[in-house]
Amino acid sequence: EELQELIPEMRTIFVEPKEGQAEFSIPGHPSKYFESVLSLVLNRSKVLRGRILTIRDITERKKASLELEQVNKELKQTEAALQKLAITDPLIGCFNRRHFFSLAENELIRATRYNHQLSVFMIDIDYFKQVNDTYGHSVGDQVLIAIARRIETFLRSTDVFARYGGEEFVILLPETSDAQAWQIAERLREKVAEPYKINELEILVSISLGVSYWSSEGEITLDALLDRADQALYAAKRTGRNQVLAWPISEN
Ligand code: GH3
Ligand code: MG
Ligand code: MG
Repeated sequence: EELQELIPEMRTIFVEPKEGQAEFSIPGHPSKYFESVLSLVLNRSKVLRGRILTIRDITERKKASLELEQVNKELKQTEAALQKLAITDPLIGCFNRRHFFSLAENELIRATRYNHQLSVFMIDIDYFKQVNDTYGHSVGDQVLIAIARRIETFLRSTDVFARYGGEEFVILLPETSDAQAWQIAERLREKVAEPYKINELEILVSISLGVSYWSSEGEITLDALLDRADQALYAAKRTGRNQVLAWPISEN
């Protein structure tokens, strides 16, 4: 009966004239693997004369293929990790600039094709050099991370957030009108300006934001859209910092 449990062929061997092949294992340390083949012996008039059951030890082959499976699994994990590394900023953990461009290109194509509106924020931390100079680069890094985390809490899952440069971030907001974008940017600015607690220090820091939109006004390139946001950011810096300005900038 134990043998019947173990060797699948045993079940049919005395019941029906059927050939077959199966694998089975005997658990243990290490487990053993076997292959059983059941063949029928027929005489010239096709009458069943007997059966032959061969059992072969395939432990080595099985071990090799299990090892190969494991190696493949690890390779896939490594691939996924490398893939993630290639699109991630190492300090912040958000998307890097390169991946932003690749995602944003697609978003812009989609928006212009289906005539959906879309907004872009360029963000630069105000006087960040002073934070480094006052508290040191390592605290500066932590402030940078804390600011990014705070910004992320404002985002929808469809928004694309990335580190654009040293202390600069970029956000692409699909399906966002100019009025909505302005409101979100303003709330973001206020939220970021609340104090940060880092190593028992209370640190105050602000951001400036440049906003640009696209809304069914004909073709536009991503570079042009980013350049508009950048112009707005530059104006926000020039005229006082800790503020939001949108493109086009009225010079008065
Ligand atoms: P502004 O308001 O004009 O933007 O002044 P700022 O000091 O922020 O601008 P500036 O471009 O002169 O300097 C940016 C500083 O950000 C300089 C650089 O040391 C710092 N920075 C850039 N990346 C990092 C980083 O990853 N970690 C830290 N700690 N500092 C960084
Ligand atoms: Mg900067
Ligand atoms: Mg700055």
